[in-house]
Amino acid sequence: MDNNFSALFLIRGLLIYLAPFILVGALLDQLWLALSIGLLLLTVWNYFFKLKLIRWLWRSRTIMPPSAPGSWSYIYEGIYRTQRRSQHRRRALARILRRFREASEAIPDAAVVFRADGSLLWSNKLAQFHFGLRWPSDAGIRLSNLIRHPEFVSYLNKGDFREAITIPSPVREHAELEIRIMPYSDDQFMLIARDVTQLRQLERMRKDFVANVSHELKTPLTVLQGYLEMMDEPASMPPTLQKKAVGDMYRQSERMRNLVNQLLVLSRMDSAARGDIFERKVGMPQLLRQIQSEMQPLAQQRQQQLLFNIAELDMYGREDELRSAIVNLVSNAINYTQEGGEITVNWRKVGQQAELSVSDNGAGIASQHLPRLTERFYRVDSDRNSASGGTGLGLSIVKHALEHHHSQLQVSSKEGVGSRFWFRISAELMTN
Ligand code: ADP
Repeated sequence: MDNNFSALFLIRGLLIYLAPFILVGALLDQLWLALSIGLLLLTVWNYFFKLKLIRWLWRSRTIMPPSAPGSWSYIYEGIYRTQRRSQHRRRALARILRRFREASEAIPDAAVVFRADGSLLWSNKLAQFHFGLRWPSDAGIRLSNLIRHPEFVSYLNKGDFREAITIPSPVREHAELEIRIMPYSDDQFMLIARDVTQLRQLERMRKDFVANVSHELKTPLTVLQGYLEMMDEPASMPPTLQKKAVGDMYRQSERMRNLVNQLLVLSRMDSAARGDIFERKVGMPQLLRQIQSEMQPLAQQRQQQLLFNIAELDMYGREDELRSAIVNLVSNAINYTQEGGEITVNWRKVGQQAELSVSDNGAGIASQHLPRLTERFYRVDSDRNSASGGTGLGLSIVKHALEHHHSQLQVSSKEGVGSRFWFRISAELMTN
């Protein structure tokens, strides 16, 4: 408030205003009449500025006050200052609110603020995406009416938010959301929801993987243990059975060795550093000739013909991974082709790319199995003890190795006719 303004100032102003009326009234001996006229004029003057004030406050759009004399200027100026101050505060608050919203939009989680009675106060865009909430149109609606999953509703009603819960997203198929709720201010709560779909999938895969490995190891171990128990009493074991036992035990331990080796290859591939495939040249013709001579004895055992057509094409890549991929494809072709069958491996140029294919005229694969072949432990023959001694890991190793070389395994197969497995190496990985 202006320092000049005081009760004394007001009274002095009134007296100065009334002085001429008192003087004239005293001279004309009409003091009361003169005073009454003076006060009447003062009232009219006051009403005039009151009217101006009301018009300014209610009708005018400007916050600048109209000009006014005397004590009215203090009133106008006072209101003007208060309005300016609240305007500043409103702007500062709006800035804080905007920053809060921007910050909450920046967090990678869905955020919802609701009252203790469950009514929605505010939600960010991710909450709209994960839960289908709409803001501001859903403001005030109870959260339990908006997210109706029974587990969530009972969690909300219980009011014990120490543990997080996971529920499926009401709007996104197969998506899972982990929800945490925290008290936010006196009667408000903040809900944070995180998309844990991938995490859960990985967890499930890890569990399946451990279960599969245990199962795969348990079967040969049971066979070994059974024979060992029998061998404890050699007298009760006829010599023919003894021979069979040794053969079976050998095959089962071979199976376990295969499994462990393949698991090691997979884990090495999982942890291999990415992005260095352009650093090393792989002499593919040489590599393929090596594989040919390693595989030939196996094919011969089964009286199969193993043919290699090798073009002089080199590429960039990791030799050990390419070797694993090709060896797996060729040994599968040998294993799943009947005696006397034919297997052909081609490494050739196709446009700017190179293609490796392994074709056989073996058992073939029914079409329903084709999409799942590269899954870990997936086998067409459900009898895991089948003669091939396979583990179901071979083609997932191939898939992994090819991914590292920006390529994909392709399969075409017909039951009873044969199969063709192939992949293409893109031009940027070719050295010539
Ligand atoms: P496995 O260790 O059982 O061979 P893979 O992952 O290498 O595992 O192969 C998965 C399944 O695909 C095999 O169990 C087999 O049934 C089928 N398969 C793979 N290659 C061939 C092929 N050349 N001909 C017929 N079936 C095949």
